[in-house]
Amino acid sequence: MGIFTKYFLPNEYVQSIFDIKPEHLKSKNIKAIITDLDNTLVGWDVKDPTDEVRTWFEEMKEQNITVTIVSNNNQERVASFSSTLNIDYIFKARKPRGKAFRQASNLMDVNKSEVVVIGDQMLTDVFGGNRNGLYTIMVVPVKKTDGLVTKFNRLIERRFLNYFKRKGLINWEE
Ligand SMILES: [Mg+2]
Repeated sequence: MGIFTKYFLPNEYVQSIFDIKPEHLKSKNIKAIITDLDNTLVGWDVKDPTDEVRTWFEEMKEQNITVTIVSNNNQERVASFSSTLNIDYIFKARKPRGKAFRQASNLMDVNKSEVVVIGDQMLTDVFGGNRNGLYTIMVVPVKKTDGLVTKFNRLIERRFLNYFKRKGLINWEE
């Protein structure tokens, strides 16, 4: 397995968070979710969780799967979104650095093998999760537009995605 694959290939790649079901996670012995916010749960410019997102969080809670939002965005954005869901969050997480992933895992009192990282970006969410030894699920970004830094990351990401696609490692329809 190449170094790119090791660090940048997600364990799973799905269209949206709504394709991620509690039963599936439980079958993998996963008890906790570390999820990105912007363009993973809602578009980056959407302030509050949609009803569909609320239902998704409720379903996870009912199945005793704990969720923490870990975002590189600022306190105002992350706190206001998370508080309406009444769940824990870490803002300015500096993903792909490991600290926030460790903090979130400690907060939820689970070990590495019980955690899944969900996000829309390969260079922050997937890379961060993979190199910290966590299971990773990548989702297609909710919204196609991004900030400048993310735009640049997307260029690199596109090349990785094409590479994985050529290798048959990702079944990817867009
Ligand atoms: Mg994101």
